[in-house]
Amino acid sequence: MRTIGLIGGMSWESSIEYYRIINKTVGDRLGGLHSAKSIMYSVDFAEIQALQQQGKWDEATELMIDAAKHVENGGADFVIICTNTMHMMADEVQKHIQIPLLHIADATVEKIKSKGMRKIGLLGTRFTMEEDFYKGRLIDKHGLEVIIPTAEEREIVHRVIFDELCVGERKESSRKQYVGIMDHLVENGAEGIILGCTEIGLLVRDEDSRVPLFDTTRIHAVAAVEYALTV
Ligand code: GLU
Repeated sequence: MRTIGLIGGMSWESSIEYYRIINKTVGDRLGGLHSAKSIMYSVDFAEIQALQQQGKWDEATELMIDAAKHVENGGADFVIICTNTMHMMADEVQKHIQIPLLHIADATVEKIKSKGMRKIGLLGTRFTMEEDFYKGRLIDKHGLEVIIPTAEEREIVHRVIFDELCVGERKESSRKQYVGIMDHLVENGAEGIILGCTEIGLLVRDEDSRVPLFDTTRIHAVAAVEYALTV
C-alpha cells in the first residue's frame, strides 16, 4: 500500500472527513483492522485565508510548496491537497516535489464523465467559481460546460463556507439557500452539480438536489485510496 500525503487544515472541518473516508474505504476494501498509511501536514487556516483575502497568492503558493515538501520528506508516496481553492497553485506545487499530486478536479471529472454528463453546475469559494484555475481546467482540459451561480448567489455560497462551515456551523437557513441556488443551476441546464469546496458536503446531501451531486471531498479521498491500493 502506498502512503498518502495529505495537506490539510483548509479547513480542518473537511480534513477530518478526508481522514475518515480514507480510512473507512481502506477498511471496506481490505477488511479486518486495515487502515490507510498516511501523513497529514495541517496548516493554520487563518494564515491561508488572510493571504487569499489580500490576493497574496505567491506567499500562499510558498506555504503549499513547503507543506508538500514536508509530506514528501515524511515518506508520502503521493500527495493530495484537501481543498479545491488551493489547487490554484497545484501545478506549481507539483514542480517542486518528486512525488505525484492527485488533482481534485481531475478525479471529479472522471466521475462526471462516467455518468455521461457534459453540462455541470459548480459551487465553491468565489475563487473556485470565478477564476480560471478550476473552471478553466474543467472547460479546456476536460471539455465540460460549466454553469456557475449569479453574482449575488456566489456571494452567499462563499460567505457560508468561510463564516459557517469552516468554523463548524451548519445552519438550516443556509442549507435552504444552497438548495435554492442548486435549483437555479438545474433550471439553467446543469445535469449534475460539483460540490467544489470540501466543506459543502457537510451542509447539503443528495436528497437536497434534483440532479446528482459530485462531492469533491469524497471523490478525492476515494481516488486517493484507489491510487494507494494500486501498486
Ligand atoms: N475547503 C474549501 C475549498 O475546498 C475552502 C477553503 C480554502 O479556501 O482553501 O475550496
